[in-house]
Amino acid sequence: MSITLVHLIPKDPHFSPAPAASEAAQARLQQLVPEALGGYDVWDIPGTAFIDPGENWCGVRCPVCGSDIEDWWGDVMDMAVLPDGYFDALAVTMPCCSAQTDLNALDYVRAAGFAR
Ligand SMILES: [Zn+2]
Repeated sequence: MSITLVHLIPKDPHFSPAPAASEAAQARLQQLVPEALGGYDVWDIPGTAFIDPGENWCGVRCPVCGSDIEDWWGDVMDMAVLPDGYFDALAVTMPCCSAQTDLNALDYVRAAGFAR
């Protein structure tokens, strides 16, 4: 049996919708996919977390020059994560082209990002 999760990742990684907006989104999802087995759930994560594609992970590239940065990315994620497992500051300088960007703007090959 497989499971499919739908993650909605906002542009602002620290954004947390009001409860009424979460409930409205969940109701709309139920209209769009009424046959979902196991039901629906909305998580309000207490901090900004990295939402990864799980077993579909295919790497990460620089959003400016396209270099493969997966090895660097792992080390930077380890340094950026807070003791509680969440993230606050996401700004980074790319090792390949010195571009200033942030961890949420990287080119994740499969959909990934930061969200609450
Ligand atoms: Zn680059």
